[in-house]
Amino acid sequence: MSAPYSASLTTAQAREQLLAAVAPVTGREVLPLREALGRILAADIVAPHDVPAHDNSAMDGYALRHDGLAGSGETVLAVVGSAFAGNAFSGIVGAGQAVRIMTGAVLPAGADTVVVQEAVRVEAGRVVVPAGQKRGANTRRAGEDLARGQVAVAAGKRIGPAELGLIGSLGFAEVSVRRRLRVAFFSTGDEIASIGQPLAPGQIYDSNRYTIYGLLAALGAEIIDLGVVRDRPEDLEAALREASATADAIITSGGVSVGEADFVREILARLGEVKFWKLEIKPGRPMAFGKVGDAWLFGLPGNPVAVMVSYTQFALDALLRLSGLDPLPERPLLKVICGEAIKKQPGRREFLRGRVSLGDGGWQVKPFSYQGSGVLRSMSEANCFIILPEDSASVAPGDTVEVQLFEGLL
Ligand code: AMP
Ligand code: MG
Repeated sequence: MSAPYSASLTTAQAREQLLAAVAPVTGREVLPLREALGRILAADIVAPHDVPAHDNSAMDGYALRHDGLAGSGETVLAVVGSAFAGNAFSGIVGAGQAVRIMTGAVLPAGADTVVVQEAVRVEAGRVVVPAGQKRGANTRRAGEDLARGQVAVAAGKRIGPAELGLIGSLGFAEVSVRRRLRVAFFSTGDEIASIGQPLAPGQIYDSNRYTIYGLLAALGAEIIDLGVVRDRPEDLEAALREASATADAIITSGGVSVGEADFVREILARLGEVKFWKLEIKPGRPMAFGKVGDAWLFGLPGNPVAVMVSYTQFALDALLRLSGLDPLPERPLLKVICGEAIKKQPGRREFLRGRVSLGDGGWQVKPFSYQGSGVLRSMSEANCFIILPEDSASVAPGDTVEVQLFEGLL
């Protein structure tokens, strides 16, 4: 019997192959600004005017000409008017003059400096300004946030709260975004029952379809749930054909482990071009990746934790690239002290579920006590993966380890 797996890959090699293979889907739509929240911008947003549009005051106080102030001692200025946000002073501020000004008001012509109201004395239509004022103090320059013609938000960026505000500040009511990625998914296995059905002896309820639903919802994809597919070649083939007819990507769970990969591989060989990988990781060793028709297939392992590890480490960034996100997010690994011993043999890269918390000596991580690849509770209670690289051996309490926080991952 031939080995079912075409290659044994490290995490880095697998990621490289995945990311090199996929390219963003085309297709865009124009949405009202608020509906674009969470979507990926399809074209650069270019500032049509300066933001802020005018020099203005950063404080409540008095606008004046700096070169009209005495070099030492106090200067007495006549207050010749006032400027409010949305209601400018229309005259020119001359030497010996000042204008009462509020935060956000346009800086009047002739003035270049604002002295805060707390710093001055006001006497019958005049203001007494002490020495030592800095030229340009308490003012905001036109275009200091964005200059006209500058790219305010680049294509490929996911639109979050800051981007909504920024785009709004330029006066755009609509934006062009990439269409949503369509992702179909199903679970495989004769032992898997859908919720709402009674459990026959030896059956377990499907958890992967719910986990994957949650992951895809967080991704912002259009989700096509194809249910549970029995371990029968004709069922699997029908599900794959249906998925590839409608979706940009297909996520399956189960059916890629050594015992099952042979029959799955045969079907996939007929429908497209899919590679079976043996990843040098724990958990989540087997994975399939390739094309079924025009859709990308991510064949994840069956164990619930392995599903989440292989999705977050491999499928996620490939799906984000397919969605048009550019650049892809950095995935920082933070170095923290490990509070407990961890047994490990050099060889595979391990993803343990851990909890980072603030201890006496700073941030610490503790591994969850049950690390089985079927123990989904570990994912729920953890807030990070403790990542032990391929060549690392056991960890002693007090050693530094690398963690990847779940934030932005799940
Ligand atoms: P497999 O890769 O299909 O051999 O599955 C590996 C393990 O994961 C088996 O113990 C399965 O019962 C379990 N498993 C597979 N699919 C699911 C699922 N959808 N929900 C919960 N457990 C699953
Ligand atoms: Mg199975």
